[in-house]
Amino acid sequence: MIVMKFGGTSVANCEAITRMIGIVRGKLEDRPVVVVSALSKVTDLLYRIADKAAEREKSEADLLLAQLRDRHLKLAEELLSSHPSILREACARVNSLCDDLDAFVAAVCSVGELSQRSKAIIISNGEYLSSNIICCAMNASGIRTNYMDARGFIITDADYLKGEPDMDAIAARVPEAVAAAYVNADAVITQGFVSATADGEPTVLGRGGSDYSASLIGMSVDAERIEIWTDVDGVRTADPRRVDNTRCLDRISFEEAAEMAHFGAKVLHPLTIEPAVRKNIPIYVLNSMNPAGQGTAILQSSFIEDGVKSVSCKENIYVINIFSTKMINTSGFLKKVFEIFSENKVSVDLISTSEANISVTVDSSQNIDRVVERLSDFAEVYVDSDKSQVSVIGKNIISLKGLLEQTFAPLRDCRIYMISQGASYVNISFVVDRTLLDGVVRQIHKYLFETDGENEGRK
Ligand code: ADP
Ligand code: ASP
Ligand code: MG
Repeated sequence: MIVMKFGGTSVANCEAITRMIGIVRGKLEDRPVVVVSALSKVTDLLYRIADKAAEREKSEADLLLAQLRDRHLKLAEELLSSHPSILREACARVNSLCDDLDAFVAAVCSVGELSQRSKAIIISNGEYLSSNIICCAMNASGIRTNYMDARGFIITDADYLKGEPDMDAIAARVPEAVAAAYVNADAVITQGFVSATADGEPTVLGRGGSDYSASLIGMSVDAERIEIWTDVDGVRTADPRRVDNTRCLDRISFEEAAEMAHFGAKVLHPLTIEPAVRKNIPIYVLNSMNPAGQGTAILQSSFIEDGVKSVSCKENIYVINIFSTKMINTSGFLKKVFEIFSENKVSVDLISTSEANISVTVDSSQNIDRVVERLSDFAEVYVDSDKSQVSVIGKNIISLKGLLEQTFAPLRDCRIYMISQGASYVNISFVVDRTLLDGVVRQIHKYLFETDGENEGRK
């Protein structure tokens, strides 16, 4: 069995879905579990609808809801025009999901209050819409495909917008659900991103969470491999949207991929690697627009050579600077500080400490208000939001002679605010001014990956 996850651009429109179905058709012998995201940009649209509902802007929310319905109905018509009965079924499913959503949004508008639970319900509709239409289209194309609702088996805690998976419950439920759906079927399909508590309360896994869904399912069915189909040829030496001349990496280790994803490479959700590692399942990152390409294999470290693999960055971070003279010569101060982060579920990326100061970086998608408030009870706290974080990642980079010098050589004129050389030996990260980020990443990439001869030995 394999898991095949298709991201938003890989299911963006009729052409992309037709291509995607062709890719699945080529793998039927491997018994695929297909996991789909919402159509490209639909989750963003649903977030806007949720915001309008919270602001009680009913007429604006209605306009956006009409766009949502229209896009999906048109897509169904394009895909299924030569199969009238399946088209009717697909349109009925779209209309039923959209009718429920319209009513739900109207209720939120009239109350004028949007709970996290309500928001999770609204934003999960993208995956329900896409998976229903694609299931119909796969059947119309002759692939007998059964539909599964991910809320029956991707079980999380009650953190509605970023549910933490209950690995045991998932591992117990997925195989049963997949086996039941695989009766009289060539393939099965489900939604990425959406999840539920054990009591069936709706949750989601957080932005970009479909990759994570795929890997949780892969772990649970002991998949032979997990395929992440996206819009780039594989994992590259840097984000191709930010840097020219990036190279596709043939293979990287689980650890390298996890660090890259965690430190800003959007190509994978940061938590995707962990479930796959538990069962040592290879992950392949592949391009749905170039299915013949090799992509990138993410494998156990012993198959991977040492060397620098990529430069990642996080543009939007907070640097939280904590000053307190109470820190000097006392023990337990760090514990107190990090308990506050932990209690508020704020995860920290980089840390540096000195005699009376701790600086940490935090991804700006997290809400730090409460953390800052609590820390301010016993320390002076300053938050910088005009900095970015850059990470150079590769297996055993710590053992590469002169790497620090080589990484920082192109940055002679740039101020570096924090440096952290990861204990994992896989990562060197530092903080620079946000206005300089693009230049910094490009210069480092050029120096490490684009210069022939002298610098090529950085492996
Ligand atoms: P999907 O919708 O398929 O989940 P995403 O947009 O989430 O796709 O992820 C793919 C994008 O990740 C690429 O278009 C690329 O811009 C970005 N990306 C960031 N870092 C990297 C990297 N190191 N290698 C490849 N892609 C990267
Ligand atoms: N549709 C969700 C998002 O846009 C999940 C995903 O695409 O992975 O965040
Ligand atoms: Mg993604």
